[in-house]
Amino acid sequence: MNAQDRLLLRGLGRLAFHLARRAVSFPIRLQWRLFRIRLRLYHWALIGLAVVAIVAAASWTPIARDVVIASYAHVRAGQSVPFDPGYTQSAVWTTPGAEQLGRWATWGIATNSPWVLSYTKTIVPYMEYEGLTDETIYPNRSILEPRRGTDSFLNGGYASVPEKGEIIVSVNDRYVDDLRVNDARQVLVVLVHELVHIQGGNFLPLPKELIRNEDGEIVDWLDGTSARLESATEAATQEILAAMCEFGDKLACQAFWLNLEDLARGNLRYRAMRASVPALYDIWADAFFRERDEEIAAAKANRFWQSRWGFLSDLLEKYSVRAWEQVRDGICGQPLDTGIWAKTGLGYYTILGLKFDDTQTVLGRSGWFLRLWC
Ligand SMILES: [Zn+2]
Repeated sequence: MNAQDRLLLRGLGRLAFHLARRAVSFPIRLQWRLFRIRLRLYHWALIGLAVVAIVAAASWTPIARDVVIASYAHVRAGQSVPFDPGYTQSAVWTTPGAEQLGRWATWGIATNSPWVLSYTKTIVPYMEYEGLTDETIYPNRSILEPRRGTDSFLNGGYASVPEKGEIIVSVNDRYVDDLRVNDARQVLVVLVHELVHIQGGNFLPLPKELIRNEDGEIVDWLDGTSARLESATEAATQEILAAMCEFGDKLACQAFWLNLEDLARGNLRYRAMRASVPALYDIWADAFFRERDEEIAAAKANRFWQSRWGFLSDLLEKYSVRAWEQVRDGICGQPLDTGIWAKTGLGYYTILGLKFDDTQTVLGRSGWFLRLWC
């Protein structure tokens, strides 16, 4: 073999090696290329999914949250409880034979129902025990009372704290007479709500919110006053009911869950109305919450609201949307600003913050679920 042949042989050898290497590497490179294309597709898919998830989390999860909480609370609230408060169907109740004592026959609280009196005495001390106030205020009258006209259907009760005169807490007596709404759970919610109002602070109009005439008489409130005090009162009601529940009041436990259901459902209804699809709320509520007779009643009430959507939306915003927000803040550890000043151990004055520790305890696992939104 001469030098020329060896050179040729080496060249052929290199060519063969080169071709062999290409042959082997070709599928590998092809795979790698495909993998890179696929990787890119995966990347886009992942980024796309993340964007969809973020948008969804921002938009529909509060709805999912309220759907879950309303459904769970509905089950925990149980069946409605017949309300039989021993109502005298008269203006004021006194113990027979104790006319001379007047209201002192009933511990200084004029009343027309032993149920209302007993619960008033039971509820008010919680206001101090829970740190809502440091000086409890009792009503001079705690009564069941009829309300006139349309008001009879719309108002559960009222609290009146005049500058001079009697402090009155009143519950609509329709809860006794009208079997459709006869439910002790609901009455307890109303009574706690009104008893929170009379404690003052942020639960009543502040002096700067009162509009007076030339004679110094109050003629109106500043815009937004009612929303501020009603939402705070509603939120505090939730915590007081939780405290009562933990101390063994079964009716208060049911009332706690009923009110929670109302907060979550009110928020959903408000959202549906704001999105111009109020019917969507009713379809959902009919399907999961209402019996046939309740469906008929709800549809009837909707016909009443049809010409008053603005008013309804205003009510829902006060009593549900904003109150629910404050309850959730409480669950996240932010106390409710009571606006009530109290002396600390060090002699300083501070504004009391109502903690939602009892609400957290009664919520149990569903509290952890809600904390996902903190
Ligand atoms: Zn109120």
